[in-house]
Amino acid sequence: MMALLTDSMALARWRDSCRQRGGAIGFVPTMGALHAGHLALIQAARQQCAHVVASIFVNPTQFGPNEDFSRYPRTPEADRELLAGVGCDAVYMPEVGEIYPEGFQTAIRVEPLTLDLCGRSRPGHFDGVGVVVTILFNRVRPDVAFFGLKDYQQYQLIRRLVADLAMPLRVVGVPTVREADGLALSSRNRYLDGEARVRATALYRGLLAARQAWRAGERQVAVLERVARDVLERAGIEAVDYVAVREAQTLRVITSFTESMADPVMLMAVRVGGARLIDNMVLSREDGAGLSL
Ligand code: AMP
Repeated sequence: MMALLTDSMALARWRDSCRQRGGAIGFVPTMGALHAGHLALIQAARQQCAHVVASIFVNPTQFGPNEDFSRYPRTPEADRELLAGVGCDAVYMPEVGEIYPEGFQTAIRVEPLTLDLCGRSRPGHFDGVGVVVTILFNRVRPDVAFFGLKDYQQYQLIRRLVADLAMPLRVVGVPTVREADGLALSSRNRYLDGEARVRATALYRGLLAARQAWRAGERQVAVLERVARDVLERAGIEAVDYVAVREAQTLRVITSFTESMADPVMLMAVRVGGARLIDNMVLSREDGAGLSL
């Protein structure tokens, strides 16, 4: 039976019983509306940890005033079934007031990492992610936390946060799970109607085209970005937020490729139909394979 933990007391009791039994606690934070991408994180945790806990919390502080907080999909019963089905031991589903009690006023900023890319068009978003993840880590006190490489800038932010604040846990990045046609699974894909759903496949095709160009020897960032942009434009995606090739760990702008250069990652964000979609690919590797940046 999967334990349902709705408050921090129940969570603390569950955690203490795990500690008594011994073995690592693996943690998978989510906003629910679960799909196979989330489940891949649970499975990775299941393989590496004796105890696995997921959280479901639609975090208000990471949504902008004009974003989709109120219409973000919420499917708690289905989520619990899916989690139990992949052997998750416990799910923590706190109320907003438990995470942000009266009088809450602390901020977390990880900059410059979060100023650019998604941070540019979603001001405050990553501050909200940083603060909620810190609170969740402090409540759950996991040994290992699992994040999807799908949200690549978020993954690097978490790694930076954990290193900078000497948080006593390990962060693991899990490769992106995709539909058969390449579209990265996302809770927001359910905003896509039939025609927008077809156009949305251009993100992955654009990344593949850029990786192909990289493999053929192309080393000009502007050309690699153009290759991907062309695919998006040919598919009829006009609202391109960004297409950027960056240094894979720091997300810094690449001025020239040298021998010592770390891997380049291509990141993109577009608007299709009613959805803002993101995707990324490390150009120099198989999709996410063996990535432990
Ligand atoms: P979310 O519920 O969207 O906040 O996502 C929770 C976690 O699942 C994050 O670490 C995401 O990066 C991860 N995730 C979301 N979609 C995918 C996917 N398609 N493949 C792998 N991980 C994913």
